[in-house]
Amino acid sequence: MRGTFDSTSALGNAMRQFDRAAGVLKLTPNQIAVIKQPRRVTEVKLPVQMDDGSVEIFTGYRVQHNVARGPAKGGVRFHPKVTLDEVKALAFWMTYKCAVVNIPMGGGKGGVAVDPRKLSTAELERLSRRYFAEMIDLFGGDRDIPAPDVNTGPQVMGWFMDTYSMHRQEFLPEVVTGKPPELGGSLGRETATADGVAICIREAARHLKIDLGGARVAIQGFGNVGSYTALNLYRDGARVVALSDDTGGYVYEEGIDIPRVMDYTRANRKLQGIETAMPELIPLEDPMEILEWDVEILVPAALENMITKENAEKIRARLIAEGANGPITTEADDILDERDVFIIPDILCNAGGVSVSYLEWVQNRMGYYWSLRRIQEDLDEIMTSAFRAVLHMSQQHHVNMRIAAFLLGIQRVTTAAEMRGLYA
Ligand code: GLU
Repeated sequence: MRGTFDSTSALGNAMRQFDRAAGVLKLTPNQIAVIKQPRRVTEVKLPVQMDDGSVEIFTGYRVQHNVARGPAKGGVRFHPKVTLDEVKALAFWMTYKCAVVNIPMGGGKGGVAVDPRKLSTAELERLSRRYFAEMIDLFGGDRDIPAPDVNTGPQVMGWFMDTYSMHRQEFLPEVVTGKPPELGGSLGRETATADGVAICIREAARHLKIDLGGARVAIQGFGNVGSYTALNLYRDGARVVALSDDTGGYVYEEGIDIPRVMDYTRANRKLQGIETAMPELIPLEDPMEILEWDVEILVPAALENMITKENAEKIRARLIAEGANGPITTEADDILDERDVFIIPDILCNAGGVSVSYLEWVQNRMGYYWSLRRIQEDLDEIMTSAFRAVLHMSQQHHVNMRIAAFLLGIQRVTTAAEMRGLYA
């Protein structure tokens, strides 16, 4: 398969993105020193008893990047290729993502290097609890609030919350978001990231005068973000013609029946083999071809560094909506910029998840729960005003949407950091 997953360069990309925006803002070295690097980095070894009685040691991380605007906030991913540098990059993006949507939180991220598909449910539960217990003093509703990310979802969040609440001997749902609604999770959190992606696409399509009805779409990745984004766009009348996950890529020019794909992946957990259930779908030789498909809208919703200088020239979409964090390298960004491709950057595009996480945290602290309609209205308001603020910034400073999003985020974080000042 073409395209390598290079975690070192995720951090390199993140730092280059920061430097570009910091240059436009003419930040001083002192300002940069306070907001660029992570504030706290933790690495732990996690011994877990496997079902056969053996013990395996996993490595886990939690990075708190910046807490000037509020407690650290960000997901925990379970993936075999997780590294400390990757988690640092992801925590950095969370700081600016929270600032772009203007929620009162800082940035954090966690990860465990593990392939969860190889674990039984009991093993996964022991690993999740051990991860949380090992770093329990870092976490808290006013300190650091984890959430789902790649390969983690409501069940893992439920175990995190239970571990913390048992330890403190109190019901403390606000320590983690993305929980099942039965345990204080917010309605609408499961689909929130994808709903935010769809809102951004709606706004961008309006700006670019792309008619969403019948627009051709390709989506890379069919996890939480990719699958619900596909469903949203399908419902909005767009034609999703190409889909992929890490097990395969499929195309169908007439437009793929997304609800049927979701039935299949719900039962099988991957796209592989779907052509037996949906014979109209044509398998691609290489799932990476999806990125170069002839479409108006491309949604990379998998992992980092998928669009690089090797394939950026071949992208045919006019609009790219970054469902994933960091899917485009800085070199590729430059190539796409030259070619006038409109990119909705990750720290804006996929911020719907953390926005509803914030609404979940507020509800937990009030002990009063809102209707789905209220959540959806608030999410729409948060995402639409963030999109418009970034677009305005981009027009005002004559920069692309990514730099504009960083300008907005960095200004907010710098202001908060300066108003707080340095302790001692
Ligand atoms: N993991 C998601 C992200 O990358 C959500 C984070 C959260 O809800 O805290 O934005």
